[in-house]
Amino acid sequence: MQTEMLIGSKFEKGTEADETIFNPKTGETILNLPEASQGQIEAAVAAADKAFVDWSRTTPAQRSGYLLKIADRIEAEAAEFAALEALNCGKPINAVLNDELPAIVDCYRFFAGAVRGMPAVSAGEYMPGMTSMIRRDPIGIVASIAPWNYPLMMMAWKLAPAIAGGNTVVFKPSEQTPLTALKLARILVDILPEGVVNVVTGRGETVGNALINHPKVNMISITGDVATGKKILQAASKTVKRTHLELGGKAPVIVFDDADVDAVVNGLRAFGYYNAGQDCTAACRVYAGKKVYDKLVADLSSAVSTIKFNRPDDTENEIGPLISKRQRDRVASFVERASELKHIEITTGGKPGEGGGYFYTPTVVAGALQEDEIVRREVFGPVVSVTRFSDVDEAVAWANDSDYGLASSVWTKDVGRAMATAARLQYGCTWVNTHFALVNEMPHGGVKQSGYGKDMSLYALEDYTAVRHVMIAHG
Ligand code: NAD
Repeated sequence: MQTEMLIGSKFEKGTEADETIFNPKTGETILNLPEASQGQIEAAVAAADKAFVDWSRTTPAQRSGYLLKIADRIEAEAAEFAALEALNCGKPINAVLNDELPAIVDCYRFFAGAVRGMPAVSAGEYMPGMTSMIRRDPIGIVASIAPWNYPLMMMAWKLAPAIAGGNTVVFKPSEQTPLTALKLARILVDILPEGVVNVVTGRGETVGNALINHPKVNMISITGDVATGKKILQAASKTVKRTHLELGGKAPVIVFDDADVDAVVNGLRAFGYYNAGQDCTAACRVYAGKKVYDKLVADLSSAVSTIKFNRPDDTENEIGPLISKRQRDRVASFVERASELKHIEITTGGKPGEGGGYFYTPTVVAGALQEDEIVRREVFGPVVSVTRFSDVDEAVAWANDSDYGLASSVWTKDVGRAMATAARLQYGCTWVNTHFALVNEMPHGGVKQSGYGKDMSLYALEDYTAVRHVMIAHG
């Protein structure tokens, strides 16, 4: 197992932080968190700075070649990556191997192609005797900071567009899940020129904080909590760094009376609980029409009660545990407080799983009201609330009544109603008769306090490059 950080072309040990990395399926410690010292952070930024001189002058075709090699190596070592991610996050191995790794590999391949097709230069005469040119150039050093829910995928979403755009990177994985990032560092050092990507580990308040405040860092890209995003904005303001913020979510799911209930139930069973609900787009906040509500609650509850987790044979498991005891206790306390309300019924789940791991039984909270905490706050666990609405205006108003604006879905057989409702929703993404599907060609990112900036797609490449104007007098 790789435990050393990548600084320039060297692998270095960190000091042991007062924090352990553990297996959420058993609670057993894997190792103590290695943490970068101030000197190592300085060295990583200096290496990125030095590398930028040559890397920023490479052609899109050259950078594309590097990205393709990274994709090939991850693909070749997919089984090892999957095993490590499953160990560190508690995910079922098949979910990582079959769902996440192909999307991760494709992300590097997408940006390898996208950077060659990006319309970088345009030119024209807009003043007599002058030619104006538009360029898209790299921004500089990007500090990329990732969360724990999809460690290797978040790394791909951040690294691929940043280096495709000609930037250099200092990457910090979550303190809870650094193992796959450290393994990928061993591959990156073989492929990329020295210093193009550096990987440092440690806590947010120490290593993360040093990176976001570093005067040489030109851009901060973070996926994480809204509170963390706000700290980053404050730090960025000191030297006016560009920021790219992918923050939390609380996805509303509007189910109209004419929806195909079986499809909704299948969708919610899959997309409300995938990754144990630890997903910023999880289908967790259902608004159901009056006529469909009772059947939806009944069918959903029985479907959710069959979700397989905590089985000794991991290949049978559909979801894993929560990432930590703290997260499990947090989820449990949300459900406990909800269950104390008279109007709420916990129709399935509502208790921790058995054994030493941090499992929580997949839960349906029926009868929730718009003002309830369970409807308003990000639970980030295998918990879906269902609320009854009376008309479309109420459903849309409730769906939009949130500080978050990342993802949403609408379920109906009436295409006109679907389009009209989607147009009124204040979310970065609205799915119709599905939920959760992401594809590298299309942008992912929020509005409101879910942040701004897009992951994946050509929009990400725009975010990681600067538009510049060059004007030439004909003389
Ligand atoms: P977090 O904000 O606690 O941590 C995210 C990262 O930020 C970690 O690497 C952490 O070390 C770092 N960090 C924390 N404080 C910092 C500071 N002061 N300075 C610099 N870095 C700091 O979030 P988390 O608990 O790891 O992840 C869960 C959150 O991420 C949820 O809110 C979830 O919705 C969000 N998320 C959003 C998306 C999206 O695409 N919008 C995707 C996944 C997760």
